[in-house]
Amino acid sequence: MSTKPEMCAVERLGAVRNQLEAAAKAAGRASGETILIAVSKTFDAGHIEPVLEAGHMDFGENRVQEALGKWPDLKVKYPNIKLHLIGPLQSNKTKDAVALFDVIHSIDRSKIARVVADEMARQGRTLELFVQVNTGEEPQKAGVMPTEVKSFVAQCREEFGLTIQGLMCIPPADEEPAIHFAFLAKLATECGLQGLSMGMSGDFETAIRFGASHVRVGSAIFGSRD
Ligand SMILES: *Cc1c(COP(=O)(O)O)cnc(C)c1O
Repeated sequence: MSTKPEMCAVERLGAVRNQLEAAAKAAGRASGETILIAVSKTFDAGHIEPVLEAGHMDFGENRVQEALGKWPDLKVKYPNIKLHLIGPLQSNKTKDAVALFDVIHSIDRSKIARVVADEMARQGRTLELFVQVNTGEEPQKAGVMPTEVKSFVAQCREEFGLTIQGLMCIPPADEEPAIHFAFLAKLATECGLQGLSMGMSGDFETAIRFGASHVRVGSAIFGSRD
């Protein structure tokens, strides 16, 4: 393999694409049904730009502050970029997040839903929104509890006028992800939602089998983060 990290990322992206297509085919799905988000957190513009040059436009970041340091310039150069916020959002970062991102995967409480709704109206922007669900009910993890998803999605719609695209989860590290993907899919069906943001480097093929609309793949594309 090349020692140039930028070549590695493009090569790895190609390999991940092939795996995604094979997984979709095996599941009887069209590969175009699943959006591959290249998670570029901790990697700088120098690592990201070759992937953009290769034509990939969907990227994920987990921190607003870090994203502000690299994406505004890249968005000028590549206007078709679609930027996904996949990490927790604080209300004091909402203005920047709504201006920079196109999709937020981590709507997880009423306060944030309300502030995002207000900020989208103020900026005249419409972002795609996912509700993060704490499917493993882990105390340290963000996300709405499974029993509260239905009422929270209803509140987002009725009280804040938001369109929710789907649900997102990060399964507990030590549990079989398939169980959580199946559970998230069931919750989404109950809420009448199509979108399923689930699956990372280690389990995106499983997520595709359970109907993922978006997979979030970092280290398998950009290499390990240390
Ligand atoms: C970092 C991150 C990913 C990507 O993780 P990898 O294991 O590197 O693919 C996906 N989703 C979220 C929410 C993340 O924070």
